[in-house]
Amino acid sequence: MAATQTRELLVVGAGMGTAYLLQELARLPHDWSITVIGEEARPCYNRVLLSSLLAGELAAADLDMLPADCAARFHSGVRATALDTRARQVHCDDGVARHYDALVIATGARVALPPIDTLRAADNIHVVRTLADVDALRTLSSQRGARAVVLGGGLLGLEAAHGLNSLGFSTAVLHRNPTLMNRQLDREGGQYLQRILEGRGLGIRTGVTPAALDYSRDGRLRGLRLEDGGRIDCDLLVLATGIVPNKDLAAQPALRSERGILVDEQLRTSVQDVYALGECCQYGEHTFGLVAPVREQAAVLARALCGVRSGGFSPSDWPVQLKISGVDIFRAGRLDPGDEHIVFRAPAQGVYRRLAIADNRLVGTLLVGDGAGSSWYAQLIREGSPIDALRQGLMFGRDVATASAAAGSAGDAHTRTSAEIIERDTA
Ligand SMILES: Cc1cc2nc3c(=O)[nH]c(=O)nc-3n(C[C@H](O)[C@H](O)[C@H](O)COP(=O)(O)OP(=O)(O)OC[C@H]3O[C@@H](n4cnc5c(N)ncnc54)[C@H](O)[C@@H]3O)c2cc1C
Repeated sequence: MAATQTRELLVVGAGMGTAYLLQELARLPHDWSITVIGEEARPCYNRVLLSSLLAGELAAADLDMLPADCAARFHSGVRATALDTRARQVHCDDGVARHYDALVIATGARVALPPIDTLRAADNIHVVRTLADVDALRTLSSQRGARAVVLGGGLLGLEAAHGLNSLGFSTAVLHRNPTLMNRQLDREGGQYLQRILEGRGLGIRTGVTPAALDYSRDGRLRGLRLEDGGRIDCDLLVLATGIVPNKDLAAQPALRSERGILVDEQLRTSVQDVYALGECCQYGEHTFGLVAPVREQAAVLARALCGVRSGGFSPSDWPVQLKISGVDIFRAGRLDPGDEHIVFRAPAQGVYRRLAIADNRLVGTLLVGDGAGSSWYAQLIREGSPIDALRQGLMFGRDVATASAAAGSAGDAHTRTSAEIIERDTA
């Protein structure tokens, strides 16, 4: 009887997408022999928790994502440098060309550099993307009171700023848009968040753009000159100016890419038996910067690799949550001005909550300063179930809403806070 040959599944990139893929494959019957190449020293850790590690709220061991008995072979600290799709080989910087029967490119993304002519490498300009980045920043924490500037007031920039603040840096955030986290928050929500963060000691400047960087003779960054003529001195600059997909391996005509490596709903690229997963890929017009879609992609890809039918990947509106301890920010669904909005404002408590309703269904929510009910709202939005019975107490979360529905009144809901201002925006 002829021995069955195992098939080689080669995965390039040992990040979160790969961790989820391996978890999914472990649940399915298959005959793949799996090899993972990753340029980082440690494979498959939870990158989402890096901000908490930076802030000293977690230890590095808390970031593990894979069991010790994971069946894959890992080559860590190895970078894939070129792909030969004809020979079905990946060339690596350890001098080895590795064969595959199926290849998954899961190379993630890198920090997008801001378009400042004078930006160049300096030992006090950092990013927060990897464990090594966090280690490097944590060794600087002895410089208490040193001035740190974070460029970019999106989710990652604010989390990095919180981490640096916790390490003792005097930290300022510069954000080009007038609204912090402008991709998730409306103007008012951004103002509430700004006040909360300023109350925690962060300096925040919105609507500002750096024009140039100044260096000392020894090549260290000294400060930023702004387009409005202002200047900010700093001892440390952290760039949090968005991400760009790592698609270098796809640099060949047969493997189609635009902003990311193009994939279909089964995560197939334009080359047979080559797949792309996570932040390096592009589906239609979508590229990805959150872990929820990457996890869904991994589940779809595992099925595709094991010949199990699935509905395929389809993009949706994934909820976003800020992970600064004690600062609740949650956004899910859409907040279109044409829909009915119910808004709750409690400025003294720093609480701002907005619910958007269309056709008697919750379609969006934005919670600042009080995230109570966030997962319930996300569920209501996802399920699209009618909310007429829950409507009166809806703003105050599941317990109040269902109690109000049972009592047929919202009386209890209205006693929740004396600072309550609830209004229906018809904007
Ligand atoms: C600080 C931080 C906080 C975050 N917080 C959140 C959050 O709160 N919520 C959320 O949803 N998402 C968050 N994210 C985003 C989330 O971590 C990513 O969406 C997720 O990690 C993407 O997984 P991936 O596998 O596509 O890429 P990655 O996890 O980045 O893994 C890609 C891996 O491939 C390696 N690689 C690249 N090129 C090569 C090569 N040529 N050869 C070998 N290896 C290579 C990279 O070094 C990396 O290890 C955060 C990200 C960061 C950096």
